[in-house]
Amino acid sequence: MQHKSPEGRCSFYRFPIDTETLGLYHKWPHRASDKFVNCPERLSHWPREVLCSSRVDAREVKFGPLCSGNQSNLKRGCDTHGCGHYGARRESGPHKGLDIVCADGATVYAPFDVKLDRKAVPYENKPKKEPINDGIKLSGEGLCFKLFYVKPDSYSGTLKKGQKIGTLLPMQKVYPGITSHVHVQMCDISDPTKYF
Ligand code: ZN
Repeated sequence: MQHKSPEGRCSFYRFPIDTETLGLYHKWPHRASDKFVNCPERLSHWPREVLCSSRVDAREVKFGPLCSGNQSNLKRGCDTHGCGHYGARRESGPHKGLDIVCADGATVYAPFDVKLDRKAVPYENKPKKEPINDGIKLSGEGLCFKLFYVKPDSYSGTLKKGQKIGTLLPMQKVYPGITSHVHVQMCDISDPTKYF
């Protein structure tokens, strides 16, 4: 039996689920389609999580511009506070995301059609970092990800590609001299670089 989307356009499902709900399917989104096409009993565990999407493979998804003044999603290189690539060295362990250059106070945009899921904070119990301790967890194009150092206009709802998510918080206040940026982190902590 093949599963069809409500529109009948596709034959597999994608799951906008993160590490909190992922359980067995930790490897998502890698070949999720193969696992689920013929598994209605498994699908039944996830009815509210199922997002039937188009045939586009999640790995082919590309982020549209995230920040005003950075149309090409220029990545943060290295500065006195560290480097912006995934896996870069940090005091707390490898960098779990990818940093995209964005000036303090700049507008942060939806990189494609997205659903805003909830608030997502970069730091726990670090009062000195409070000025930039905000962000948003969101999903779209079969991907679940977080954006840090952003003050969203809203923590819920949906946005079309290019609509405003919010404003970049004052990174220079907390990290003087840093290349101010949006931190992009996949919910499963996989490397987001392939989407840029
Ligand atoms: Zn980062």
